[in-house]
Amino acid sequence: MAEVRLEKLSKRYGRADVLAGLTLTVRDGELFAIVGPSGCGKSTLLHLIAGLDTPTEGRILFDGLDVTELPPRARDVALVFQSYALYPHMTVAENLAFPLHVAKRRTSRSREEIAAEVRRIAELLGLVTVLERRPRELSGGQRQRVALGRALIRRPRVFLLDEPLSNLDAQLRAGMRAELRKLHDDVKTTMIYVTHDQTEAMTLADRLAVLDRGRLQQIGTPRDLYDAPANRFVAGFIGSPPMNLLDARLEDGEVRAGPIRFRLPAGVETRRGAPAGTAVTLGIRPEHVRMCAADAAGGSNGIVGTVRLTELSGSQLWVSAELGGYNPGTILVGLADATDRLQPGDQVTISLDRMVSHLFDAETGARIDCEIGLEPG
Ligand code: ADP
Ligand code: MG
Repeated sequence: MAEVRLEKLSKRYGRADVLAGLTLTVRDGELFAIVGPSGCGKSTLLHLIAGLDTPTEGRILFDGLDVTELPPRARDVALVFQSYALYPHMTVAENLAFPLHVAKRRTSRSREEIAAEVRRIAELLGLVTVLERRPRELSGGQRQRVALGRALIRRPRVFLLDEPLSNLDAQLRAGMRAELRKLHDDVKTTMIYVTHDQTEAMTLADRLAVLDRGRLQQIGTPRDLYDAPANRFVAGFIGSPPMNLLDARLEDGEVRAGPIRFRLPAGVETRRGAPAGTAVTLGIRPEHVRMCAADAAGGSNGIVGTVRLTELSGSQLWVSAELGGYNPGTILVGLADATDRLQPGDQVTISLDRMVSHLFDAETGARIDCEIGLEPG
């Protein structure tokens, strides 16, 4: 196990900044996720940590020791990719044992010791009953577990996973996610898990880092990122459906986006040195927006909309509605009762939860820290 520290890590290919000045620390034994859209530099970052590639600038430290110049073998890391390659002619047991046979420092192991290790990993990963099968006789999930097991059996100091579940179908992926979490709790190896899927990162990780175009956007626990996104990018990226982001203005002690008005705590305008009329982005999570059929009892604050799209999710219905009395085409997503049977074209009244909204600087996108609440009355 090891603490992994990245210091001002940069990678350029030609003139392209693929990673720009990344500094972060993954704690010893932590399950840490790195999440960001496709092409943001996640795989490049894992390759640098594994030693498969060298940074243009910056350092990588394992437990305080500089490993930036060390070859992959000397780093004692294991890397699992999306497309795992098992040896097709070997059984599961032989595939699992393979790294122990090749690892020089383990040559002192007896056949019995290796068999015991294979057994331990097979039990950990639920592969005991398929140990004598060959990869083609396994399901996708089982194959992926063998790939994980083959990486884990070496007891690496750091376990690196690059979108390891992307080849699995959705249901299997959810199951494997829970298994990975449990696996980590059992082996307690430092794990760095890369994914473009924010739900995966949020449900799996102790902490996560959000990356956009090679730049670190925020590091924190899933709760930190959900409750206080550092900027508009994180706000829009974390959460499903994504946060509503509305063009708004600071005026007369309020933040206003058409009919939506929140009272600002005293001093927000002056603290920012922002004159009245300053443009901001108002962020409201869909789960904090309630939509009701306009003829039903409900929201009476004068916010109305027209349903454009509905999406059923179990007992809840996600509704995209065009906000009335504001810039045409402004869409707000919120929750309705599935029993309301809303259809495109229906009118809805919209109500908002208190104290759960976010403000961002319209220009820089940076979070403006303040708690805003609904205007009374
Ligand atoms: P991710 O894993 O987040 O999808 P990658 O790390 O694979 O992203 O790639 C990040 C960016 O770096 C992409 O724009 C990609 O085209 C570029 N890139 C990756 N490897 C190379 C390379 N060897 N040469 C040039 N550009 C590269
Ligand atoms: Mg990648």
